[in-house]
Amino acid sequence: MINDLVNIVGSENVVQDEPMKNHTTFKVGGPADYLVTPDTEDELAELIKYSKEHNIPYFVMGNGSNLIVKDNGIRGIVIKLFNNFSNCKVEGNRLYASAGALMSKVGRVALEHNLTGFEFGAGIPGTIGGAVVMNAGAYGGEIKDIIVSAKVLTEAGEILELSKEELNLSYRTSCIIPNNYIVLSACLELKPGNPEEIKSKMNELATARRDKQPLEYPSAGSTFKRPEGYFAGKLIMDTGLRGYRVGGAQVSDKHCGFVINAGNATASDILDLISDIRDRVEDKFGVRLETEVKVIGE
Ligand SMILES: Cc1cc2nc3c(=O)[nH]c(=O)nc-3n(C[C@H](O)[C@H](O)[C@H](O)COP(=O)(O)OP(=O)(O)OC[C@H]3O[C@@H](n4cnc5c(N)ncnc54)[C@H](O)[C@@H]3O)c2cc1C
Repeated sequence: MINDLVNIVGSENVVQDEPMKNHTTFKVGGPADYLVTPDTEDELAELIKYSKEHNIPYFVMGNGSNLIVKDNGIRGIVIKLFNNFSNCKVEGNRLYASAGALMSKVGRVALEHNLTGFEFGAGIPGTIGGAVVMNAGAYGGEIKDIIVSAKVLTEAGEILELSKEELNLSYRTSCIIPNNYIVLSACLELKPGNPEEIKSKMNELATARRDKQPLEYPSAGSTFKRPEGYFAGKLIMDTGLRGYRVGGAQVSDKHCGFVINAGNATASDILDLISDIRDRVEDKFGVRLETEVKVIGE
């Protein structure tokens, strides 16, 4: 199998038994059988075809900033769309970004072209592909506000251009996951702006993040979705769980909506802590928290 993968993406783009803790912002996760980083859409399509023909499971990821990979890792192929899948170009007010472009890079490109509208996204530590999948948002903005369309690859190997309406974006969800689509690229519509103002907004939001979020610890951002009518962090705090710990996993003292890896946490520490939080918040407030982070592997 390794030879087949090397034939598709080149030897520099395949690793075997790769610890996923090196590819997730939580810094947890056992080995992926194979981790591949295709350079082109053709290589990606070839990988999917190969996996289907040989009945090998595959999982597509970006920067691993919304993932908990379990301690025994992932069987099959992990396809990471990252640096070498990250072209960005601007035509007029439209910014086209390949799926693996980090949100920080997209923000930089928008600023270089004096385009406003992306400031909310520049500090989200994922890729644009991951951001489209879950309609990422922050500080009053979300992908839904600026996206025109996304190009996706279907399981059958077809390439579709989905409009904003077809993407069906709403709070932390879209049509991508239920259809098993792979986001190849996104087209964003921004507006002409003043570079000083764009820069100062980005800096202001970066400072707000540093002040409010435990960025000094590994995490996957907000662990839970916002339940209607509540804030997850406040419910957790009011349940008395600030600083609560299971093994190396802890409810952040700084922001109770963040579970952090406070030192050598395993994925099972994190999952046990999440389970305790959900039960205790439900006992106290009758609200069942839903995770925003995706759990994968075995
Ligand atoms: C400190 C911190 C702060 C954060 N702040 C925010 C925030 O303010 N707002 C917010 O919305 N999120 C936030 N997040 C969460 C996270 O950064 C976002 O969810 C981000 O969009 C995930 O992108 P990713 O590339 O890391 O995706 P991954 O974590 O790699 O993957 C997440 C999901 O998307 C799927 N996926 C990824 N790329 C593709 C693709 N190209 N095609 C198909 N499926 C794909 C994966 O299969 C998986 O199901 C934060 C995380 C951290 C660690």
